[in-house]
Amino acid sequence: MAGVYRALGRAPDAAHLAHLSTAIRRVLDHQPRTPWSLLRRAVEAQGLLTGRDSELLERLRRADHDELAQLYRRLPAGARALIRQGQHPLRHRVADEDVLLGADLERHLATDLVDTLLPDSPEDALVPLGRAWMQAKQARKELGAAAGAPDAWHIVGGLRRTDPVSPDVALLAVTAEPETWARRAADALPRDVLVVAGHRGLAIAADPEPIVVHAIRPEAAASSLVWYTGPRAHVRELKARAHGLGLELTRDALRRGEHDLVLADELALYARLELPFIPVELRSRPEVLDLAVSGTLPELVDVADIQGDLHMHTVYSDGRDSVAGMVHASRALGYRYMAITDHSPTARASRVLTLERIAAQAEEIAAVRALAPDITILQGIECDIQEDGSLDVPDSVLERLDIVLASMHESFGHSPARILQRYERVLRHPLVNVITHPANRAPGRLPGYALAFARLFEEAARTGTAVEIDGAPGHLDLDPPLAELAAAIGAPLLVDSDCHMAERLGRQMRFGVGLARRAALTKRQVLNTRDVNAIRAFVSAKREGRPWQA
Ligand SMILES: [Zn+2]
Ligand SMILES: [Zn+2]
Repeated sequence: MAGVYRALGRAPDAAHLAHLSTAIRRVLDHQPRTPWSLLRRAVEAQGLLTGRDSELLERLRRADHDELAQLYRRLPAGARALIRQGQHPLRHRVADEDVLLGADLERHLATDLVDTLLPDSPEDALVPLGRAWMQAKQARKELGAAAGAPDAWHIVGGLRRTDPVSPDVALLAVTAEPETWARRAADALPRDVLVVAGHRGLAIAADPEPIVVHAIRPEAAASSLVWYTGPRAHVRELKARAHGLGLELTRDALRRGEHDLVLADELALYARLELPFIPVELRSRPEVLDLAVSGTLPELVDVADIQGDLHMHTVYSDGRDSVAGMVHASRALGYRYMAITDHSPTARASRVLTLERIAAQAEEIAAVRALAPDITILQGIECDIQEDGSLDVPDSVLERLDIVLASMHESFGHSPARILQRYERVLRHPLVNVITHPANRAPGRLPGYALAFARLFEEAARTGTAVEIDGAPGHLDLDPPLAELAAAIGAPLLVDSDCHMAERLGRQMRFGVGLARRAALTKRQVLNTRDVNAIRAFVSAKREGRPWQA
């Protein structure tokens, strides 16, 4: 409990503690088992609990507040820290602050608590983007079936900001009757799935991360979107700005005195704060309000700017769909060009493109070209970089292809310096046009190579080789800080899907563009916002040893 006071920034006081404790017990009475099992899981996973400690927690669950305070002190420091930080258990309970605090507590206290616990701290980062997306999709489907489809769904939180990992998945359900809708959904959900049901909110235990759904009225949508999209530092700054203008920003409304201002959308909310609309991907930047005030927000690259996708796989390697299937999906997305880039012979993919099959694939692509004259289909390859920095496909084969991608799918246990040497050799290869997923990171699992990336990007710029922002959920690489560094150094940048299934082409490109936007990239800085002639010129400049001009 001490941690709650620390979070609130106020001194513990007995009457308030009693109040808080009662309110928490009310939640526990509603759903006594799940929250603590989640707590145990969270704590045990970090090796912070012994069997004795688990028992302690069980007693903690049943304790009254005096005993609670006593038991709390006996928990290991790590477990106390988890509770203090408002990791899983407390955060679940503040999905709807009315539940935690009781509706009769002062409004500002409730607001401050949620503000304090709005999840955006990096140590909470848990759900990789791809899984967050799947969970949001599944939750919408199941809740829609359980409670009826709301008027609208909005994704908020880290998923909306294209954070590579988020602490949880958060959604808004817009409906004229949020309380009724939330109650209906809560009643329909199985007990072991529902963690907390509030007056108008739900927290759901999706394994292993929570999904938080806030049901809101349509007139609250603009404020709620800004509020729950976060991150909390941005919301705090907007609140301060509102205050300076004689307004009050809450999760439900922008108010002047007793009156809620009518806001058509987020744009209108920012306008009331005398600001231009701030793109969600920039809201995590500390300097963003200054940029907005001075009218110098960058004009970010948009999905609609993308003219082609230069990295995807088919049944010729480990993709699921045929060349025609990928072409059909690319046309549906409005692309003007695309490249088929299957894995080379030594890749550790489940299937690879053998040298003999490259000719067969060329024939198949030619046949599909005849049927799809409105899109340019490039034949490329994703070549594995060998241990000595050479490629596993002879130049005589590569030079017949339209574009060559090169990648490492492992490090051979090499030091960063050695990996960089391999990259430098491959960058100087006149037939290599793109380095894919350069850091080889896996969001939430592997941090990726700790290279001197500035040197890699300088060499990419010097040799006219692109580095890629790969939108596949398992890569999301380059990550935004590295993409920003690459752009600052002047390395050509591509955003690709690295897609293995036709129906995911669009989604993975959106992830990639989201990362590019997080990196504050403009359309001009992304090579595949240009037409196919620019791509061909880019490839031939390197092949002919001419410098490439952006
Ligand atoms: Zn790859
Ligand atoms: Zn690939």
